[in-house]
Amino acid sequence: MDLRKKIRNIPDFPKPGIMFRDITPLLACPDSFREAIKQIADQYRGRKIDAIAAAEARGFIFAAPLALELNASFVPVRKPGKLPFDTQAFHYELEYGVDTLEIHTDAFQEGEQVLLVDDLLATGGTMNACVKLIEQAGAEVVGCAFAIELSFLNGREILAPHECFSLLTYD
Ligand code: 5GP
Repeated sequence: MDLRKKIRNIPDFPKPGIMFRDITPLLACPDSFREAIKQIADQYRGRKIDAIAAAEARGFIFAAPLALELNASFVPVRKPGKLPFDTQAFHYELEYGVDTLEIHTDAFQEGEQVLLVDDLLATGGTMNACVKLIEQAGAEVVGCAFAIELSFLNGREILAPHECFSLLTYD
């Protein structure tokens, strides 16, 4: 099954010069979506993974079925003010300004093994913030998994030495 055929390329979205990789055709096809989750899960079967964590919103789409497939808990990483219980925040620098991500204070036990998931790896800024947040919470990142990687943006480099896996790579 060629999953790449299920990614729609949208030129000039959200800004001129950007080629957006649209995952909605893949999500619309249960066989393809199931196969994508299976192929990502295959990379991690047999390893100790206590939790799968992902940042809203597109990360959730892949992380939730992956958590069920790997029999791990699912932990949502959210924008400020969205989580109802006590939260722990991580502030990180953007090109212009600062952004914040939050998790519940009881999201992880000390030393838990966490797999981080997102739909797409571009510069790695979003995933790097998630890595820091998980480490600040006392858990351990076992890897970062993506459906798509834009390899020309070298996101892997900022995530090193954490291991990255992506299903589809665009050069
Ligand atoms: P980064 O922080 O690595 O620069 O950007 C990755 C984040 O931006 C991901 O959370 C992803 O959802 C979003 N993103 C950036 N470009 C694209 C794209 O072309 N397609 C999709 N589906 N998401 C994108």
